[in-house]
Amino acid sequence: MKTVSNEEIQKQYAFMREAAELNSGKGLRFFVRTFGCQQNEADSERIAGMCREMGYSPTEDEKNADLIVVNTCAVREHAELRALSITGQFKHLKEKNPALIIAVCGCMVTQEHRANAIKNSYPYVDLLFGTGMLYRFPELLVGCLKEHRRRFMIDETEGNIAEGLPVLRESKIKAWVSVMYGCNNFCTYCVVPYVRGRERSRRREDILAEVRGLIADGCREITLLGQNVNSYGKDSGDCDFADLVSEICSLDGDFILRFMTSHPKDASRKLIDVMADSKKCAKQFHLPLQSGSARVLKAMNRRYTPESYLEVVGYMRERMPDIAISSDIIVGFPGETDEEFGETLDMLERVRFDMIYSFIYSPRKLTPAAEMDCQISPEVKSQRMERLLEVQNAISLEKNQAAVGAVQRVLIEGESRSDPTMLTGRNDANKLVHIPRSPLSESKIGEFAEVKITRAETFALFGEL
Ligand code: SAH
Ligand code: SF4
Repeated sequence: MKTVSNEEIQKQYAFMREAAELNSGKGLRFFVRTFGCQQNEADSERIAGMCREMGYSPTEDEKNADLIVVNTCAVREHAELRALSITGQFKHLKEKNPALIIAVCGCMVTQEHRANAIKNSYPYVDLLFGTGMLYRFPELLVGCLKEHRRRFMIDETEGNIAEGLPVLRESKIKAWVSVMYGCNNFCTYCVVPYVRGRERSRRREDILAEVRGLIADGCREITLLGQNVNSYGKDSGDCDFADLVSEICSLDGDFILRFMTSHPKDASRKLIDVMADSKKCAKQFHLPLQSGSARVLKAMNRRYTPESYLEVVGYMRERMPDIAISSDIIVGFPGETDEEFGETLDMLERVRFDMIYSFIYSPRKLTPAAEMDCQISPEVKSQRMERLLEVQNAISLEKNQAAVGAVQRVLIEGESRSDPTMLTGRNDANKLVHIPRSPLSESKIGEFAEVKITRAETFALFGEL
């Protein structure tokens, strides 16, 4: 078990107290900008927890901040360029307020070439720490507060599991719970194993204690997180992912359980049976397909075939006929032919996903696919992306329209971001549902409500209580 010792965590708490003393009475504020996946969002909630412990209060406006943290993503170049550009914009804030501390962390800076670029070309960045060094943020910050020196810590990317760090959650209703970190799969396009290290699972009892605490605090939706959530326990042998889900679902309380992301090769019948048999487990599965071509899947090192993927989906639907299935698709993997792309479109028609997240292939340093011949031109990639969305959007709309007239259980979250006269929530399938705002609907914020679906769009449903 690779857990950071309690002694080390206590040391970090001592640094947090020291920072709080140094900052006391100054009314300081922090701002965190997060890029990338839910794992990063969960990390940012820990960063926010540590910031609060160190005497900073949150602000939504970076211009008012005394401490800015940029939590970066490395999965595609686009995410990296955006993080670099945002960091560049903070230079002006530092010119106005030389006491401002700027930290950059996360997957992008866990790559040596990016860390060096920041060291050399972004002199106003004070702190930099890799994904495995997150728990040492207090130590770095105190160093910076006391000595006004730049601090960089990107070694030990393998990372350890740090339990007991403070956390400031964005929502009281919904919570992320990481159950494992890292990835051993080395899909040939993906940088994650290089920036998040090898798979390591949290102890079952630590996860259960966190989940029990959340339920006691009135949390209604818990999402178990991992790069490869269904290989939980393979490194430690304590219990497997299906056992963990089953144990959490047997806890008392009014909550719904989700998990992501699952690898098709590890989506076991045992897990599907546990989902089917448990009322608390959302009937929703995110199962990234990536490509519908057997040859491309092999070149991606995905270790399943379109047929075995269809078998998994078939069993899910046999056990849970209404299950919502979503997926990730990459277009323009090196060497992907028109026919092979056509096989991906065929799979969309055969599986009929509720929704997909689609990505244009982006070459990543260190990964084998970046070195492969026959990289696809940007024009062809965009055309394929457009075609993919056209096919999928029609399917998503049809699937949503089929829900019109049904009464669904929806967790009401709060005011709609786009329309203040509406509230939004999520149904079991994790689809966005809009309902009109009224004293009755407002009284349901943070609770499950029965909603009759009256209208459907491609990306959302509309209904009334
Ligand atoms: N562990 C998860 C997801 C990891 S990254 C899984 O195995 O599915 C999230 C998604 O980003 C991936 O599913 C993939 O579709 C996409 N992705 C990863 N690397 C990419 C790359 N180099 N270019 C484009 N998309 C990529
Ligand atoms: Fe990346 Fe593949 Fe691991 Fe997912 S399973 S994180 S796509 S290497």
